[in-house]
Amino acid sequence: MVKKAPKRPGLKSRSATPKPKSRKHVYFFGSGKADGNRTMKDLLGGKGSGLAEMTNAGLPVPPGFTISTEVCTIYYERDSKIPSAIDREIEENVRKLEKAAGAELGSTENPLLVSVRSGAKFSMPGMMDTILNLGLNDQAVEGLKRRTKNGRFAFDSYRRFIQMFGNVVLEIPKDNFEHEFDGVKKARNVKLDTELDEAALREVVDRYKGVVQKRSGRSFPQNPGDQLKMARDAVFRSWMNPRAREYRRIYDIPDHIGTAVNVQMMVFGNTGDRSGTGVGFTRNPATGAKEFYGEFLINAQGEDVVAGIRTPQPIRELEQVMPKAYKQLREITTRLEKHYKDVQDFEFTIQDERLYMLQTRSGKRTGFAAVVIATDLVAERLVTPKDAILLVDPESLSQLLAPGFDPDEWKKIPTATKGLPASPGAASGQVVFSADHAVQWTQQGKTVILVRRETVPDDIHGMFVSQGILTATGGMTSHAAVVGRQMGKPSIVGAGALEIDEQGKLFRVGGHTVKEGDYISFDGLSGEVKIAQVASKPSEILQVLAGTLDARKSDIYRRFDQLLSWADKSRRMGVRANADLPDQAEIAYAFGARGIGLCRTEHMFFGEGRIPIVQRMILADNEADRRRALDELLPLQREDFYGVFKAMKGTAVTIRTIDPPLHEFLPKREELMVEVARLEMSNGSSKELEDKRRLLQRVEQLHEFNPMLGHRGVRLGITYPEITEMQTRAIIQAACRLHKEGLKVVPEIMIPLVGHVKELRDQKAIVDRVAEETMKAAGIRIKYLVGTMIEVPRGALTADQVAEEAQFFSFGTNDLTQLTFGFSRDDVGKFLRIYQDKKILDKDPFASIDIDGVGSIVETGVRLGRRTRPDLKLGICGEHGGDPSSIHFFEKVGLDYVSASPYRVPVARLAAAQAALSVKVGD
Ligand code: ADP
Ligand code: MG
Ligand code: MG
Repeated sequence: MVKKAPKRPGLKSRSATPKPKSRKHVYFFGSGKADGNRTMKDLLGGKGSGLAEMTNAGLPVPPGFTISTEVCTIYYERDSKIPSAIDREIEENVRKLEKAAGAELGSTENPLLVSVRSGAKFSMPGMMDTILNLGLNDQAVEGLKRRTKNGRFAFDSYRRFIQMFGNVVLEIPKDNFEHEFDGVKKARNVKLDTELDEAALREVVDRYKGVVQKRSGRSFPQNPGDQLKMARDAVFRSWMNPRAREYRRIYDIPDHIGTAVNVQMMVFGNTGDRSGTGVGFTRNPATGAKEFYGEFLINAQGEDVVAGIRTPQPIRELEQVMPKAYKQLREITTRLEKHYKDVQDFEFTIQDERLYMLQTRSGKRTGFAAVVIATDLVAERLVTPKDAILLVDPESLSQLLAPGFDPDEWKKIPTATKGLPASPGAASGQVVFSADHAVQWTQQGKTVILVRRETVPDDIHGMFVSQGILTATGGMTSHAAVVGRQMGKPSIVGAGALEIDEQGKLFRVGGHTVKEGDYISFDGLSGEVKIAQVASKPSEILQVLAGTLDARKSDIYRRFDQLLSWADKSRRMGVRANADLPDQAEIAYAFGARGIGLCRTEHMFFGEGRIPIVQRMILADNEADRRRALDELLPLQREDFYGVFKAMKGTAVTIRTIDPPLHEFLPKREELMVEVARLEMSNGSSKELEDKRRLLQRVEQLHEFNPMLGHRGVRLGITYPEITEMQTRAIIQAACRLHKEGLKVVPEIMIPLVGHVKELRDQKAIVDRVAEETMKAAGIRIKYLVGTMIEVPRGALTADQVAEEAQFFSFGTNDLTQLTFGFSRDDVGKFLRIYQDKKILDKDPFASIDIDGVGSIVETGVRLGRRTRPDLKLGICGEHGGDPSSIHFFEKVGLDYVSASPYRVPVARLAAAQAALSVKVGD
């Protein structure tokens, strides 16, 4: 599922906070009763809590026990050692499990075999390790054979165990085993692992033991008690393997929560043709369609399905093969969906036609599917609209706004091949064959599609940066499919016609050869792949908003709109947009923004034909000349404001007076020097040379060592009051005109970068005076507010004084973060990644608010500001206004609104509703 780590800002940022330690460390489940339940994910992990819950519900779950995540923390705190008291607790649970299973670990008569499974609070598909068939050794395997009268099965289980244990615990690369396995298959001239008989599998076991001896320098451990301890510790170690850490970084999952270990009695899908194993979803996780979805393999163990060793069969076909087990599976999973009130992703194994459930969890899904499922569940009365709001990850809504192919263009190009449509969306880009190349190429600004025979968990960094993922093998639940859906990346898997030569960096398909760097495009909804770059077209939702598509014709638009209108009813905070020009304001309004939180007037200065006027204003060395230039700008700004007000249909619009250092409007010094030199050489027109020289001189005068801390923001208005005057006049004139036309707008004039109340007092006096004059001249009185951006720490720390002048505050969290950390926004990229790798910072504080530091300054500003002026209007207009976890924080602090960039407005609407439903102001 696309859900991210918990949005609990207060807790998350304090990653060092120790978990409260409980005395119990091992939780049993079996015979219809479990120590744990669904509410205990923190302690038992998702898998452990699901197994407990299913056991309590009376479902057929093999018995076992969960070693809690606290033990993982202890393991890391104590240099990879488990205290003996916990070891004893585990042993007691092994005895209990032996009783429940009616078998004994290591017995030669009736050996108990177990799986040792990782499982953290948040599912991390394939990132950590699991070992199956533990407990087998040279004697027990014979016992298993005698008891089941199935030597093939016994030795198949043993070879699987040695390979998994060898790989996970002893860290012997898989190829070493696969090489031997292939050798035996070749020698017997068979293709499939199921075609190997007992004798062949005995040989595989012998060869595997040889691999272990050679690679680890010791023989394969025969004592089941030792095996269990070693496997448990290996699972704990897998929590910190590089791919798991990378995965957590991408999904914002804290490192300190640890994994649980589940030890569970084995059930066997590999006893023959009346057995099998599979995975599935209660609904289609790519499209959200209400259909039973999944795959299974006959005569196989769990890992075979995901690993793509044999091509699994669609789950529907199970109905023919084993009708009774199929019916029971449908009943159970339907019940699970009702019980959890969400789509379930489940694992099962059938042993001799008996069904066992091995896992259930909420299914990862695309943003598209999330919206379809949430609205369907409400329609089916399984959940309320409020529950539905919480079922969709706000971030995933942006997938619905991503462009698709232009259908006419698409039809023109022949289809090269088709694969399984694992994750919808249009992808177009240059082919790369390795995750590392994907990263390198995107760093060079290219857009890439990652093409692999199949992806492995180590590819995660490359998948993350690619436009799409295309694989040749694997089914709808293969790694590429699961991860692609979760990331919302268009993905096609199992495109079997692709002959991929990863070494040679090319693939062949239907007579074409496609090399690394060539363009391809594919449609993750239909599964079609084309060898060309194809232009894309706005998403259906954008087409409806732009008026080019009828809302009634777009199912997804109606669902999107429905979900967001439920969200709007549940939220407390307003959602505004940051928009500078009328056309952006229109988009923002269409996306549901009701108000503008930040209109940056300087962006208007870059409009066509305006820069020369602005430059004349800057170059003026006396007030009269400057005023002449400003007089020219006035009507242009007035038009812009008029357009923005109108687009926002009378909702609040906050306009910020000029902010950036003036040199940003002038040509670069180096360029001017070259120009001047060129003109001097060519004896061109002396007027032009004269102008350039003057410009150069002024640029040199304006040069600042540290422009971000220099002559900008309110400091400009104070040194050049006539700029504030002009901007006020333009704002008030535009508002007066709209009033006369019948639209009652209330402009909010915002002074940036205020650190001292007297700065604001100075500017406010100008605004009030000019507003008064302007209204008089227009013969109309309107309401307007004057406020400030709180973005300098001093402004927040003296907010009680600032609020004596300000009628509203808007927290400018970009500059506030910059000034609180002392990190230059433009240079932070050089070291941020290293800070994150070293765990100095969990997240980029410019993307997600730093609650402990910047957040506490915001809290102070809110508290002091409201102390002076209880009705002070409070908002936030930094990038954080569109970030769900920051939005949770702003809800707690009690802000009145958040303001996000226009395309993030839907995300902010949903996140604000989730925040209102899950936290309280003042928490
Ligand atoms: P992952 O989290 O990577 O899916 P799992 O712990 O769920 O890892 O296990 C990997 C595979 O082994 C799954 O297909 C699972 O169903 C199967 N498996 C795990 N435990 C057992 C068991 N006790 N009996 C049979 N199969 C099992
Ligand atoms: Mg699993
Ligand atoms: Mg700023």
